[in-house]
Amino acid sequence: MILQLSDFVNQVKAGQISISENTYSIIEEAKKVNKKYNYFTTICEDFALAEAERLEREVRKGFSGLLLGVPVSIKDCICVKGVESKAGSKILEGYKPNFDATVVAKVRAEGAIIIGKTSQDEFGFGTFGKNVGVDFEIPKNPFDESRSCGGSSSGSAGFTAISKHTHVSIAESTGGSIACPSSFCGIVGITPTYGRVSRFGLIDYACSLDKIGSMGKNVNDAFLLQKIISGYDERDSTSIRDQPDISILKRKNYEIAIPKELVESDLADKKVLDIFWNCIHKMESEGFSYKEVSLPLNSKYSIPTYYLIAVSEASTNLAKFCGLRYGKHEVLKGYFDDYFSDVRSNNLGKEAKRRIILGTFARMSGFRDAFYLRAMKARTLLIDEYKRIFSKFDFVVHPTMPILPPKFEDISKFTPVQDYFMDLFTVPANLSGLPHISLNMGFVNNLPCGIMLTADFLRESELISAASFLEGLL
Ligand code: GLN
Repeated sequence: MILQLSDFVNQVKAGQISISENTYSIIEEAKKVNKKYNYFTTICEDFALAEAERLEREVRKGFSGLLLGVPVSIKDCICVKGVESKAGSKILEGYKPNFDATVVAKVRAEGAIIIGKTSQDEFGFGTFGKNVGVDFEIPKNPFDESRSCGGSSSGSAGFTAISKHTHVSIAESTGGSIACPSSFCGIVGITPTYGRVSRFGLIDYACSLDKIGSMGKNVNDAFLLQKIISGYDERDSTSIRDQPDISILKRKNYEIAIPKELVESDLADKKVLDIFWNCIHKMESEGFSYKEVSLPLNSKYSIPTYYLIAVSEASTNLAKFCGLRYGKHEVLKGYFDDYFSDVRSNNLGKEAKRRIILGTFARMSGFRDAFYLRAMKARTLLIDEYKRIFSKFDFVVHPTMPILPPKFEDISKFTPVQDYFMDLFTVPANLSGLPHISLNMGFVNNLPCGIMLTADFLRESELISAASFLEGLL
């Protein structure tokens, strides 16, 4: 039996579990699993084992923590001191940060052991984990290797699902990268309110959208991790100063809104919808009440708005990887433009190049007002639409993804635009910076399928409490 995080920590404290033995055991598992599933870009074996020994010495001196001895994996785009951190890109090969991201420092301060960096779409550019960087391997679904485990936090979700150990992962979402892989791998993923968790030490995709969150096998594990990584940080200028604490509440009679346009969308697989309505009826019989509502602006404009903003910000963020100060260097020859092109041509994948080109175009003088600035204005209207819903309801609820984990061969047939539209269910909440959680609502042909609850700003406590209740129900 796999222990829940809090039971695991209690047993470590009671001396029933050895931190070193457990760390050794999960590292062996990670190495074995990785051969087949590609969940890690780096497994930091020596680092983790040394940490485990150091921690044991500290424990003998009286040290304790909320994550004592807990193995934690970290999405590759989040910096860990001394451990190669590449955001899944060849352009960052060899980069070993000389500092920990705030979230990493926080979990280490509570006694967590970092076991490795998890695979992702390069810089987070993707929904299926297929857009990995040059020379990286594509992560595979733990339930069926011929299918996607979702992206971009693919490795975090895959390993959380497959590991036989107590384990949690720190993931990141720009437009759905926590919720989508959580759904495809049957685990729990929490994406917090924008600004609740410090982004200091995150290798940026799109600064106005990026959020660091948590993944666990169950709501309680993800909740405990989320609680620890949250909080104001003066090193992140968008960090929220006054945050209510996150805790589990007793309430059950929540009022939920179900967006018509999503559950009636052509994208949605009928089998996913069947499980979803089943789940809603169960919730109803336990005291939840629901109503179908309309989100006309979000369902029509969130995808174009999101992709304009995301690629514009990404193209600015990636400009620093030009082979001079940051990232890979090449042999210096030709003019600057040739050198710069060589570095980027050789070390960035196809989707990264596509997004840099799209984003640079959208920000060009003459187009900036028409694209980027207009998208920012549209974003305000999309946030207002949610605000109106939250004046009457506690949550917006729908399936996390319109489809089951797709086969790689089918994904290859999507055009880029079809690919982007697969984010229709997760992008709205992300674009508005709203907290949301995805948990498994059932299986179709042995493939997991998630339900997503979105709450108003800083309402993580309500969200997690409802999800915890729901988890018991399902
Ligand atoms: N699929 C979305 C994108 O490619 C979201 C990915 C993410 O959240 N990083 O932008």
